[in-house]
Amino acid sequence: MRNLTRRNFVRMLGTVGAASSVLGWPLVSLAGKATGRVVIVGGGFGGASCAKYLSRLAPGLEITLVERDSKFITCPFSNAVLGGLYDIDFITHGYDALQKAHGVKVVHDSATAIDPGAKTISLAGGSTLPYDRLVVSPGIDIQWGAIDGYDQAASKVMPHAWKAGSQTLLLRKQLEDMPDGGVVIIAAPRNPFRCPPGPYERASLIAHYLKQAKPRSKILIYDAKDKFSKQPLFEQGWQALYPGMIEWISESEGGAIESVDIANMTVHPTFGDPQKADVVNLIPPQKAGAIAHAAGLNGDGAWCPVNQRTFESTVHPGIHVIGDAAVANPMPKSGFAASSQGKVCAAAIAADLSGQDMPEPSYVNTCYSLVGPDYGISVAMVYRMGESGIAAVQGAGGVSPKDADHAFRKAEARYSVGWYQSITSDIWA
Ligand SMILES: Cc1cc2nc3c(=O)[nH]c(=O)nc-3n(C[C@H](O)[C@H](O)[C@H](O)COP(=O)(O)OP(=O)(O)OC[C@H]3O[C@@H](n4cnc5c(N)ncnc54)[C@H](O)[C@@H]3O)c2cc1C
Repeated sequence: MRNLTRRNFVRMLGTVGAASSVLGWPLVSLAGKATGRVVIVGGGFGGASCAKYLSRLAPGLEITLVERDSKFITCPFSNAVLGGLYDIDFITHGYDALQKAHGVKVVHDSATAIDPGAKTISLAGGSTLPYDRLVVSPGIDIQWGAIDGYDQAASKVMPHAWKAGSQTLLLRKQLEDMPDGGVVIIAAPRNPFRCPPGPYERASLIAHYLKQAKPRSKILIYDAKDKFSKQPLFEQGWQALYPGMIEWISESEGGAIESVDIANMTVHPTFGDPQKADVVNLIPPQKAGAIAHAAGLNGDGAWCPVNQRTFESTVHPGIHVIGDAAVANPMPKSGFAASSQGKVCAAAIAADLSGQDMPEPSYVNTCYSLVGPDYGISVAMVYRMGESGIAAVQGAGGVSPKDADHAFRKAEARYSVGWYQSITSDIWA
């Protein structure tokens, strides 16, 4: 890491991640007096973190988490499932601890509408929940139709697998069924999108699988960008582990996909020849989850503008939007960022409902990527509020060094598993 040793960084993450540091001591001692009803939509990285930390900070609140699925399957480590390193159970988490150990009421239903005037949300099951504060953390939805021919039906043939679960299993099955010597296409979208390093980690771990099971196969990454996250590190890893197997086609080289033909398993770039493949993983452009759009929280954009100190919507006061759905750049759309925002948002609500000032927030992100089972790389950053919003703290964080030896990469691969276990138990255990 640049300017910071890993040991110091890990120590700092521990401090920044701890509620008492982010939230401030006076708040921790007084927020217990806060009363009221907080409803949180979405039990993923942002929403479940917010629910848990709010219950700790302000036990007097009535907290309801609305989540449509009975289990949460994480996108982090879903690429490792595709690569055959883990099975889907490893990345599946339940809501028992949130309910039993932390007193959060979990309702498994879909929020269908929000009435900001009446301060209620409607659920698909027919009930209506009143709230004093609402937190919306619905993650992403696919922009269907942004790529000609790519709709829900097409995603059953060319899976996006950008929400983990059945799409992950479908893509894995297609990889298992393809012939040796086959072609896999991964189509990556333009920024901003969920998990900037995700498509390249995916290419790496699919290559790991193909190298063992179908070594004559090839992976083509069609990209709607001319550069990508941790690019020099990924390219170095591909050269070391999978020479000749992965080819990256940038936007300038004709990498942006304009349309797909599912009957012929062919993608059509904006210029250059169409390309046929055995497996197509099409990762389309995205937008904030549907409920955020239904409530108009996105204003006139794809993502939801917020006050980045409190994550309160700038469109509808009293409603907070966190995680992938929110505009929180320069923070990337990652699970770690969503969780960090969930904690800051919990502090903002606890402060407000107990009549205190919001303490100075601090935000953190770290993203590990596996290039192979024993080859990890990472990027990390700490953020504070600047004059015009969230700003990276200069000198904090950095990326893995390019000249690291095998032992270093192997240690980073081990840290990535530790990171996964620690963040998922912080949120769902
Ligand atoms: C392949 C891949 C790999 C990734 N790897 C990493 C990684 O290594 N590290 C990392 O930090 N991040 C990673 N990410 C990114 C991470 O998954 C997201 O950034 C994170 O999940 C965002 O959290 P969120 O709370 O915004 O949304 P989510 O975690 O997606 O949670 C949203 C929840 O809301 C629920 N929901 C949506 N709408 C409704 C509704 N109307 N009613 C009820 N419930 C609703 C959904 O069911 C879901 O459970 C990866 C992503 C991908 C695709």
